[in-house]
Formats: sequence, C-alpha cells, structure tokens
Amino acid sequence: MRHTALKDEFGEQIAKLQPAIENWSPQQVLTWAFDSFGGDVAISSAFGASGMALIDMAARLRGADFRLFTIDTAFLFPETYHLMQRIEQKYGIAIERVYAAQSPPEQEREYGGALWSRDPDLCCKLRKVEPLRRKLSELAAWITSIRRDQTENRSSARKIEWDLKFGLVKVNPIACWSDLDVNGYIKDHDVPVNPLLDQGYLSIGCMPCTFPVEDGADARSGRWSGTDKTECGLHL
Ligand code: SF4
Repeated sequence: MRHTALKDEFGEQIAKLQPAIENWSPQQVLTWAFDSFGGDVAISSAFGASGMALIDMAARLRGADFRLFTIDTAFLFPETYHLMQRIEQKYGIAIERVYAAQSPPEQEREYGGALWSRDPDLCCKLRKVEPLRRKLSELAAWITSIRRDQTENRSSARKIEWDLKFGLVKVNPIACWSDLDVNGYIKDHDVPVNPLLDQGYLSIGCMPCTFPVEDGADARSGRWSGTDKTECGLHL
C-alpha cells in the first residue's frame, strides 16, 4: 500500500524528469535523492571501488548525514570487514548491517553445507535478496553504485528509476560511469578501497564465490566463476 502511494507520488515525477536526469552529474542525482527522501533513502553498498566512490561523494555533500547499509552475508572477506571499520572512522557514520534470518550454522543444518556450491541462487536468496527486501521495506528509495557497463542486466539502468522488483525508487548516480571514471575519482579524492582490488579481485562479494581475475578480464568474471550466474538477484 505504502509503495503504491510512493509510486503515485514519484513515478510521474521521475518520468517527467527522465530526459534531464540523464545529463545530471552523480552529485546532482545524489542531491535530488537526499532532498526528496531525507531519512527514508539509504545507500546500499558492498564496498567495491564504485561503491567507495559513491560513499565518498555522499560524504562530501552531506558530511555524516546520510544512511549507508550493507547486506552482511557472514561470508565476506576479512579485508571487507576491515574496510567497513575504516569507512566508519573516516566518514563518522555507522554502517547499518543487514543479516540473513539464519546464521551460517542454522542454514547448514537446514540446507546442508556449502549451499553456495550446490545452489548459489538459493544461497543468494537466503543471504542477500530476502535481507535486502526486508531492509528496503523500511525505505522510500535506495541508492546503488551499479553501472551500465558492468553486466547485460545493468545495461538499461536509469540514473533514477522505479524499482519494480522491490517497489520503491532506485537511484543509480554513476550508472553512466566507466572503470576509468571510478578509478579517476578514487585517485583524485584519496578514497580508501578494499586491498583485495590490488590482488586481482576486481568485483568483491562473498569469499566462497569470489575469485581474482586475469589482467584485462571482465571485472565480474571472478564472481561465481565457472557458472553462468552473474548477479546475486539484487539488481535483476
Ligand atoms: Fe551464498 Fe555465494 Fe551468494 Fe554469498 S555470493 S550469498 S556465499 S551464493
């Protein structure tokens, strides 16, 4: 019901603004989101390079006055948990951690061990998609760092759009950016990044499903390597 009202309120506005939005800078898109939704919008991040650029941008616009959440699957790399601490210290914010309903041992008791190797879609559903759905139900809009050049699924992402899957506004300020843009921003603004990036982990998710990639390979080819899975289901 709340989402129907939201769609009525913002669906038309977004449609009208759409041609202009395409020319907005990431900072303008972020500003629109913060001004439109206040405390009901939050950045969602897994703290990859694109996410870090976006977080830094938000901090430069808002100080510590913005919300940031992450889906903590309990299978993240130690380097990622350490980066989360660095982010909290540098930007003075508290990251909202969203967990799966079951702990890893509980999941193992119900579904067996290493579910990611037998049914990664189910594992992602339990540990990522359902927790995200729960989190998004308390928001009017979410901000992501997805880019059109990352996967085929993401190639049609708009900078601001109605999220049909989760029923709220979705804001993708750097949808049109490339690796070059992200890396340039990170260098110019001295943004902290996950040290795994320097070890060839160009897209970083859960430990069991993330592998380093060869020089020049597609960044996301190290995710669910050896399978045709390219998305965890958050951005489909
Ligand atoms: Fe499970 Fe792998 Fe998905 Fe993480 S990325 S939730 S370990 S299948």
